[in-house]
Amino acid sequence: MRAALLWITESGKIRCNVCARMCLIGLDEAGYCKVRVNKKNALITKNFGKITGIGYSKIEEHNFFHFYPGSKTIHVSSFGESIYDPFIEKPDKSEKEKMTPEDLIKLANQKGVKLITFTGSEPTIFFEFAYRVARLAKRYNIKTTFVTNGYITSEAVKKIGKYLDAVNVHVTASADPEFYKKHFDGADVEQIFIALKAFKKHRVFTEVSNTIIPEVGEDFVMNQKLVEWIVNKLGSSIPYHLLPAHPVPKFDYSETSVETLDEFASRSAKMGMRYVYVSGAFGSDYENTSCYNCGNEIITRVGSVFTNININGDRCPNCGFKISVMK
Ligand code: SF4
Repeated sequence: MRAALLWITESGKIRCNVCARMCLIGLDEAGYCKVRVNKKNALITKNFGKITGIGYSKIEEHNFFHFYPGSKTIHVSSFGESIYDPFIEKPDKSEKEKMTPEDLIKLANQKGVKLITFTGSEPTIFFEFAYRVARLAKRYNIKTTFVTNGYITSEAVKKIGKYLDAVNVHVTASADPEFYKKHFDGADVEQIFIALKAFKKHRVFTEVSNTIIPEVGEDFVMNQKLVEWIVNKLGSSIPYHLLPAHPVPKFDYSETSVETLDEFASRSAKMGMRYVYVSGAFGSDYENTSCYNCGNEIITRVGSVFTNININGDRCPNCGFKISVMK
């Protein structure tokens, strides 16, 4: 149990300001995430340093294609969600080990890994730990990243934005408001758009992922609206990933086909998105990064696996066009 960040007292209860649920929590009650609890009129968090998954992976496995391509990352997760998603299999959330932020940084330094990725559970709900890791990581020139559903308040983005280097904001069903209300416990997608703008304001490098669910969440019109919003508000150079949904027992659909994902990708590219990918699926036409200006291949991948990069600083070696790649 640790003191939580970002809360105020309100009407004799506690208002949590970390995720966009903004729960009002009575004495001895927990918020929606079941992680943050009102104890003696102070908010505490139950998951600080409690690690449910940790390992080494390539950054591409977390759908970062323009952020230190080909680099190794430590990925780490805990428990607690701001959106309980019925379209994904529930991972094992039993505690595997306890760590301090210093332990994690020490591990990264010992292994020579320069990236730490919070993923596998919602990092917003692991906020206190992630915040301390991100702050400490800066001192050691280690980059920190979130794979998040984007359901985070502007206040939380402001607090961690000084230290957090990159986010992949992962939406489902093209951020269809009705889909979120129906399947994600009334979640309001507008909050995700507010968070995306906050990440931009605080200069956190951003990629966006969109899981296309056959039948229940594969609407081209919703994808068009999402893409238009990204192009207009964040810019056309934001890397945009189309991801397949995998079957779960509760729903009757098969895995999203590569053909469907390619069609979404093609339409997104025609709307002005410069870097569109089909990630987590093999056989797509949208695996590699090409220069938007001259078409020269900059980053080669097989599936989502990095194989080669051919870039001169942040410019295309062929025509000198600026490519939004951090390395
Ligand atoms: S983190 Fe989100 S879900 Fe958890 S208590 Fe705070 S507002 Fe509620």
